[in-house]
Amino acid sequence: MKILQQSGDPTAMYTGPEFTIQFANNAILAIWGKDESVIGHRFENALPEMKGQPFADLLKQVWESKEIYEANEMPATLDIHGEPITSYFNFTFKPILNKEGDIYCILHTAKDVTELIRTRDAVLEKERKEEEIKKELRASNEGLRSNNQELYTLNKEYTVTNEKLGASNKIIQDLNLQIKKENNELLSGNRKFQDDITNLGDLNKNLASRNQELKDLNDTITQLNNKLSESDISFTNLIDQAPVAIMLLKGDDFVITMINDAMLALIEKDYSVIGKSLFEVLPELKGQPAAEMLIKTYRMGTPNSDHSNPVILNRDGQFEERYFTFNYTPFIEDGKVTGVIDMAVEVTTQVMAIQERESIIIEKSVLEETLRKSEQRLQGILETMAEGVGVIDATGQLVYANPMAQQILGLSESKIKERTYDDPKWQNLRLDGTLLPSEEHPMSIMMSTQKPVYDHEVGVKAPERDIMYISINAAPLFDDEGNLTGGIGTFMDVTTRRMITQGKEDFISIASHELKTPVTALKASLQLLQRSHDRLPPESRAKLLDQSIKSLDKLSGLINSLLDTSRIEQGQLKLDKRPFTISELFDDCCSNFSQITDQEIIFEGDIYEQVMADNQQIGQVMINFISNAIKYAPESKQVIITAKKISDHEIKISVRDQGPGIPKEKLEHLFKRYYRTNYHGQKFTGLGLGLFISGDIIKEHGGRIGVESEEGKGSEFWFTLPI
Ligand code: ADP
Repeated sequence: MKILQQSGDPTAMYTGPEFTIQFANNAILAIWGKDESVIGHRFENALPEMKGQPFADLLKQVWESKEIYEANEMPATLDIHGEPITSYFNFTFKPILNKEGDIYCILHTAKDVTELIRTRDAVLEKERKEEEIKKELRASNEGLRSNNQELYTLNKEYTVTNEKLGASNKIIQDLNLQIKKENNELLSGNRKFQDDITNLGDLNKNLASRNQELKDLNDTITQLNNKLSESDISFTNLIDQAPVAIMLLKGDDFVITMINDAMLALIEKDYSVIGKSLFEVLPELKGQPAAEMLIKTYRMGTPNSDHSNPVILNRDGQFEERYFTFNYTPFIEDGKVTGVIDMAVEVTTQVMAIQERESIIIEKSVLEETLRKSEQRLQGILETMAEGVGVIDATGQLVYANPMAQQILGLSESKIKERTYDDPKWQNLRLDGTLLPSEEHPMSIMMSTQKPVYDHEVGVKAPERDIMYISINAAPLFDDEGNLTGGIGTFMDVTTRRMITQGKEDFISIASHELKTPVTALKASLQLLQRSHDRLPPESRAKLLDQSIKSLDKLSGLINSLLDTSRIEQGQLKLDKRPFTISELFDDCCSNFSQITDQEIIFEGDIYEQVMADNQQIGQVMINFISNAIKYAPESKQVIITAKKISDHEIKISVRDQGPGIPKEKLEHLFKRYYRTNYHGQKFTGLGLGLFISGDIIKEHGGRIGVESEEGKGSEFWFTLPI
């Protein structure tokens, strides 16, 4: 009993069915808050505050059943110094039996575990709270991680924040680990608690400070979270309001995970597309370069951009070609490409404008090229055409003259531009040779009537040049308002044409005159013979007949010339070539001329050379040359005819007189048909055909023909024949 008295373990003993407190050591008295006076009293009386609590019933149960009752952590409310205090106990009600097996007392041992429970509850509560915090933190971390991941790819600006968060998370995780570790320690400490309850106080303090740290961290995280969500909201707003169309496509199916208004407007869809595959929303994209590039970006994880390929979009059943500048950026989560960020700006209008501008430029350059070519062609035509072209302005000033105009007028372009079409330095003449009044000039007629004129012939006499004839076509030029701005004149040198016409006219008058003379003479002779041939003496009749024959010879000569000319024209001049010597030729000619002239006709040179030619025709050439010398150089005392072998193959025959000679500029025209040097003088008769026919005969023989002459020093007409 003494041992029990001294035991630190609270112990009491109850006897009898009333449970009289037979023994109570100091430890249990301390628990009860009583003193030794309670000993000897019944349990219910000594501890009246126990009424309503299970202890009396439990004692009763043990008394009756004789079986031990053990309780753990049972609460008991005791009146400690006037105050009801609940404490927790592990206790045993142990029946003590005598030899007969009857119960005689109950031994009550107890242990106050109140502090232990409180400490454990506090630990459990803390654990629970920690678990909640951990859960919250885990949730926050989860949210943060996903936010971080999205934000990471979208905006590097938040990298720093994320890193901070990461660091914080690390601290929290470390703390969690530490807490876990400490919890484990606590738990094991709990087991050891009974032995070392005082350590708990320290641990509690430690925990409290850890808790404070955790709370602070939590606050920081909350703040960061707020910041992040603010950033997230503003970032989302930014993306939503961005003028650039943006969408985030995730996974192999390119599911539209995020899309802004601009992109929705661009694809003409609403927010219902979120969560759907891009190719389900826009099936027309399949196979298009933009789609290929999207897939490539996702697979290769490298950014791509394009601005040149058109994208064909289905707009209410109509396939429209649109142009975009777009960027595909791989979306990375946990270091893996999980999607693609598509950013696009529509540039259809600009591309269309550029294309339109390009096509206009091409069209313009084609037009310019066409214009340039047609200008070149026109220039080519103007430069090579056989007609002169001159353009005048409204004042009549020449502003353009093509090369032929310069050639015809014999003036350089700069000189040409100095003159007007009715320049007084240049005499414009009518066809009859009289001065052409300014108002009668075809350009002037065209300008005043504002109507074209055609083939208007005028003579132009340039200073120190022969008169020339030009045929002018002229047309007025008007501006867009129909005002006369000038005129264009085309003209050609028709001097030759005019000469031929003139020659023909002259020829007709000359031929008529030439023919009329012998015909009149012949008629007169024949009439005289007819009327009075009986009365005429025979010598007079013979004279008349002789005159008639001369007139007829002249007529037949003229007719032969005309016939030869027409034969030459028709290429029908026939040669009858035979060999003969030059002396034979000279003999035939000589006999004819000795009777008609007093001039001395001298034959000299290589007269024994033989030629193969048409004797008759070559004779006619000789007669032409000699009769011309007699006719045009009557004052020449001698006419010298020379034959000269000039090579082994050629002999030259020339007829030289000492007559007036021929002006230099006329020499080149002498062998032309109908050409005569003195058309208007009428001093000499002739048809202007002799030299023309001669030229043709010599050419037919393969020889050459020409003239050398100097005014006042006579002329030498010559021809050559092959030997
Ligand atoms: P036609 O004598 O019938 O007029 P031609 O053809 O024989 O024709 O001569 C052409 C022109 O050549 C003549 O009109 C004349 O002016 C010139 N002519 C020819 N021979 C001479 C000459 N010996 N001296 C000067 N002029 C000549």
